[in-house]
Amino acid sequence: MLELLFLLLPVAMGYGWFMGRNSVKQNDHSAKQALSIKYSTGLNYLLSNQQDKAIDYLLEALKVEDDTVEAHFAMANLFRRRGELDRALKVHEHLVRQKHLPAKDKQQAAYELGKDFFSAGLYDRAETMFEKLLKSKHYGLKSLDYLMRIYQSTKDWSKGISHKKAIVKTKDKKLLHNLANFYCELATTALAEDNFIEVIELLELALIYDANSCRANWLLAQIYEKHQQYNEACRCYQDIYQQDKEFFPDVIDEMQNCYHQLDADDEYFKFIRKVYDETGGSSALIKYLSHLEAKYGNEKAKEFILLALKKRPTIKGFKHFIKMQMVNSTEHDNTENLDMIKELIGAYLNLKPRYSCRTCGFNSSKHYWACPSCHDWEQLKPVRGLEGE
Ligand SMILES: [Zn+2]
Repeated sequence: MLELLFLLLPVAMGYGWFMGRNSVKQNDHSAKQALSIKYSTGLNYLLSNQQDKAIDYLLEALKVEDDTVEAHFAMANLFRRRGELDRALKVHEHLVRQKHLPAKDKQQAAYELGKDFFSAGLYDRAETMFEKLLKSKHYGLKSLDYLMRIYQSTKDWSKGISHKKAIVKTKDKKLLHNLANFYCELATTALAEDNFIEVIELLELALIYDANSCRANWLLAQIYEKHQQYNEACRCYQDIYQQDKEFFPDVIDEMQNCYHQLDADDEYFKFIRKVYDETGGSSALIKYLSHLEAKYGNEKAKEFILLALKKRPTIKGFKHFIKMQMVNSTEHDNTENLDMIKELIGAYLNLKPRYSCRTCGFNSSKHYWACPSCHDWEQLKPVRGLEGE
């Protein structure tokens, strides 16, 4: 009942205004009477839970004037918040049809209608509304953002790229970041077809629009590695570390392979030691321990891990410590117990999501370039803390 009252508030306000404004005109008596009947009928329908009929009557009763337009927007927003998109659409379509409204109100109505279509999954109709608003001072940027969201949902990367001039003009970082990811999507297809030149060209463009796109560098590293250009691949991996330290654990193995191909393992481990010193990450720690163990033996590596775990304990690091203990253990029973603990920790870690979205907190065991929940690009990164990196 409270919601109903809230719904009635803007309508009643508009109605009162309309009646008051017209009360000075004696010859409007019959019009007022007709309106009164529509309004009362609308209320009756609303109270008897026949909301669609109620909206028709109330929209007719509440004439859209400059002073009542806000009441209409409030009513439509209420419907949208309640998930009643068809009703919000009806009110916004009613507003769009009003030719006498000021330009700003007309644009707002078109923008809100576009949002309704978008929420309802009617992307072609939403696209038409947003395209009309691209030159609007108030809704141009927002409409461009929605258009990119539409092309992301429909995977129409080329169509999104066709708006690059408008995007560059806005200088909006998020839109430029989205544009770079559209290029990365095309580059992923070209990479699968092993089209070297096309991949490089697309990714160079991606990096022009977003110099911080570690996805572009990740794809570049892949194509260079595929074509045995290991020096270039190593440079890309180093760039990834500079661009996004949190993403780096995901390329640590591929980077090692490229350095190994160049016969530059020592240089790689020097870099990994720097990564560990700067981030304290468990992947870098475990990688560096393998180097210590191979070069200086198990004892030296054990000393290092004990100090590291005291400084910054992680379950992944602890699991590796158990593994190292097992190598040293000579007693059969002891090894069996340690193996059981290691298995238990492994099972526990497998239950935990490996990635979390830095924007919305969505957790996943699988990596996605666009978050399945908030749709932001490149925000799913390895989990940090005790149960992660
Ligand atoms: Zn998210």
